[in-house]
Amino acid sequence: MAESFDLIVLGGGSGGLATAIRAARHGARVALLEPGALGGTCVNVGCVPKKALWFAGQLAQEQRLALDYGFASSPGSLDWEHFRQLRQRYIDGIRERYASHLAQSGIQWFAEVGRLAAADTVVTSSGTELKATQIVIATGGRPRRLDIPGFELGLVSDDIFALRSLPKRIAVIGGGYIAVEFAGLCHALGSEVTLHVRDRMLTDFDAELVDELERQMVDGGIRITRQVQVKGLLRDGDAVVIDDALNGPCGPYDAVLWAIGRIPNSHRLDLGAAGVNVEENGHIVTDAWQNTNVPGICAVGDVTERPELTPVAVAAGRRLADRLFGGRPDSRLDYEHIPSVVFAEPPLAMVGLTEAQAREFHGDQVRVYRAGFTPLQWAVAGRQRQTMMKIVCLGKDERVVGIHVLGSSAEEMLQGFAVAMKMGLRKRDLDATVAIHPSSSEELVLMT
Ligand code: FAD
Ligand code: NDP
Repeated sequence: MAESFDLIVLGGGSGGLATAIRAARHGARVALLEPGALGGTCVNVGCVPKKALWFAGQLAQEQRLALDYGFASSPGSLDWEHFRQLRQRYIDGIRERYASHLAQSGIQWFAEVGRLAAADTVVTSSGTELKATQIVIATGGRPRRLDIPGFELGLVSDDIFALRSLPKRIAVIGGGYIAVEFAGLCHALGSEVTLHVRDRMLTDFDAELVDELERQMVDGGIRITRQVQVKGLLRDGDAVVIDDALNGPCGPYDAVLWAIGRIPNSHRLDLGAAGVNVEENGHIVTDAWQNTNVPGICAVGDVTERPELTPVAVAAGRRLADRLFGGRPDSRLDYEHIPSVVFAEPPLAMVGLTEAQAREFHGDQVRVYRAGFTPLQWAVAGRQRQTMMKIVCLGKDERVVGIHVLGSSAEEMLQGFAVAMKMGLRKRDLDATVAIHPSSSEELVLMT
């Protein structure tokens, strides 16, 4: 006979764990299916190992700055294997904490793939049948692969974390978050990096700041090839060459990283058995409440057509569990004003509308404030390194609809301002706020 639960969650990544744990806290009997490592993409092959690498890159940069400040020691290279072990120990700790949290919450974890057999039934890969009145799909996504010659000679982001050494010459194909982040951090750690971009980088971010980021990346030594049309990859001894229709052969490189987007994990779910609608690209269709078209089946996170960000998956999952099991029928995630950071070198952070979006929607009601300066940290050493900020305001009372920061600590600066925007921030509120001095973030309250 099938085991029965109040909730079955498919996927133990950011969204699935958040949903399951919150539902259990509300007293629901929960089954969680996760065949891989708990924590999903973010913990194992995403945000966490990436940010650790980014920090390593920052330390390398700061060692160079320290020399300019007058410190005597020369920067050494990173002991990659030592660092990899530290990072893995940290990740293992997160997974262990999740496993004990699941146990303490009374959540039954099945280390298996699940598929739908009906609107209230999931079958695990070993054939166990589970039933529940609510099913939440949180199966995330995976790197997109292309059916072109030699694709497999390159790496996808999952593979980078398993490398036993840093490639000396690396090409990154793509112009999105992953491409720009890995180009920056590999370069900071000492690789020669070439970024192959189809047209523009980071098209969701404010174009003026992206142009400045690109300038700084190039000035710092990253090569950027634009207008690429990659036909495939070719082997050249131990190295790899990019076969480009417009630029000819590029390389050789010791490694090529494909960073060309991700696709949703909806293929193994047998969604048709329950009649769940998917878009052509595999994203599960959900409404503002995370409901699919089938009553009793919801979806959260990267498997849906929402911003592919961990805090989005987590917040959507928690609010959904509050609605389904916490007696809060109005609980749902408001997808407006979601802040986001590209951990580039330097980082680029945004919340709200870009200037172009604001002008497209609101024409001449838009007013933009700008600041550009070299932070004291760099200026003391005689280095030019622009931080750029932009505040996009709307209407007579200058409601702030977008804030953009490019520069050191951008990732830490913007969270509090995102809260203020959620509360209806006006430019006059910024003007009325006393600055913290000397800091970079003070410029956000000093723009005229
Ligand atoms: P996932 O975390 O992918 O979890 C889905 C889980 O479902 C997986 O563990 C998978 O094994 C499991 N699964 C799949 N199919 C089944 C099945 N049939 N049955 C049961 N289980 C199944 N976001 C940020 O906010 N900040 C960052 O800095 C950041 N950096 C990133 C860096 C990289 C390199 C990558 C790839 C992503 C990054 N992201 C970042 C995005 C972030 O990782 C994702 O948005 C987030 O992990 C999505 O969570 P999720 O729960 O939807 O899916
Ligand atoms: P993105 O969607 O951000 O970017 C994909 C990039 O690949 C685009 O520049 C696109 O170019 C390019 N591309 C697509 N196909 C090709 C091709 N055939 N040849 C060359 N370039 C191509 O995807 P990512 O893989 O970088 O990241 C996936 C998601 O993960 C992100 O959207 C983000 O939500 C999340 N993430 C978040 C991070 C963070 O919060 N810091 C960090 C890493 C990932 P074009 O614009 O021309 O289509």
